[in-house]
Amino acid sequence: MNVEKRRILTDLGLCSNCGACIFTRDLSPCPQVNIDEKLYENPIPNIDGSFITRSRDTKILEVAQDGGTVTTIVKFLLEHKIVDQALLLKLGKNLTPVPVIVTRPDDALTCAGSKYIYAPLLTKLGDLFKSKSVVIVGLPCHMRALSIIEKGIKDVDIFKIGLLCSHNFKREMYIELSKKFNFNIDNIVKMGIKKNMFKIFLNDGKIIEVPLKDLEKYVLKCCKQCPELIPNYVDIAVGSMFAPDKHNVVFTISRRGREIVERCHSSGVIELKDMDGSVRDKIFKIARKKADNARKFRDESVKLLRSNEIIIT
Ligand SMILES: Cc1cc2nc3c(=O)[nH]c(=O)nc-3n(C[C@H](O)[C@H](O)[C@H](O)COP(=O)(O)OP(=O)(O)OC[C@H]3O[C@@H](n4cnc5c(N)ncnc54)[C@H](O)[C@@H]3O)c2cc1C
Ligand code: SF4
Ligand code: SF4
Repeated sequence: MNVEKRRILTDLGLCSNCGACIFTRDLSPCPQVNIDEKLYENPIPNIDGSFITRSRDTKILEVAQDGGTVTTIVKFLLEHKIVDQALLLKLGKNLTPVPVIVTRPDDALTCAGSKYIYAPLLTKLGDLFKSKSVVIVGLPCHMRALSIIEKGIKDVDIFKIGLLCSHNFKREMYIELSKKFNFNIDNIVKMGIKKNMFKIFLNDGKIIEVPLKDLEKYVLKCCKQCPELIPNYVDIAVGSMFAPDKHNVVFTISRRGREIVERCHSSGVIELKDMDGSVRDKIFKIARKKADNARKFRDESVKLLRSNEIIIT
């Protein structure tokens, strides 16, 4: 994917800014448009275990988005030297998403919290792959691209933690909301979705709430044609929908994903219980609905791609 093709995809709204082609310099076709058809037919990965979890670390719970499971697992992996480095995401000045490599376990806490913004996480892979053993936290689109890149990478063991993802938002949304509600985007300390409302938490305690339906225009086409709610190409998938407040839903996809979750539990760093079948069914239903809706946008995207001479297989 050269600069020109990336520009076309960006203009069409089909680039999720995953950063993969910036790392590889030539990743063609783009993994966000060249999506495996089987993900539309069956978007649910083979799941080994389903759990409700929560961190036992009060410092993590203070800063985490939900139950702090992601930050706790990353910290555990670094502390026990199961990995040497972690690739995480921070927000810099002007709400710039900044991928960061973390080596000290406590530094995982500085990246806690969900950033509802398209982030070029994978641009940092070059630095990350200097280590032999790493953990990467990302959205399903990051992990889709990584699954392709990984095939050409030898000697690096990658543990993958994926977040559940319904959609994301353009940075412009925050600029426009900051003008409408008169706040400084550098004062945002947290963002999240509850009961169909998008909430922005500011450092003076104020909370801006906007109905999700009013923010539709800030969701790019790449999300509308994205079939995955539950990331497929990961060891562990973590979300929060249908979990009690400040808890997570966790799906272990690989055997070692399950082993790590069980080790975190037996070491006392996370609370864990089996997920109710009814919760699992509700998440699967939403996952299938997302893939069905994405299929409709996908047909439109394929036409757009062909008319712009963008190759998909
Ligand atoms: C755009 C987006 C959409 C989501 N949609 C859903 C949904 O529909 N349903 C659902 O159940 N859960 C969704 N989630 C996941 C949810 O918000 C939490 O991230 C998840 O429950 C983990 O919570 P935690 O407390 O364990 O995370 P924390 O311990 O707070 O850790 C969060 C981790 O996520 C990473 N991260 C944050 N933002 C991004 C990003 N933009 N790109 C890559 N990595 C990032 C950080 O590096 C950090 O390590 C979404 C998250 C994002 C970012
Ligand atoms: S989606 Fe990722 S790989 Fe595709 S053009 Fe955008 S940054 Fe490059
Ligand atoms: S919906 Fe898909 S493309 Fe959009 S941010 Fe989430 S994982 Fe990426």
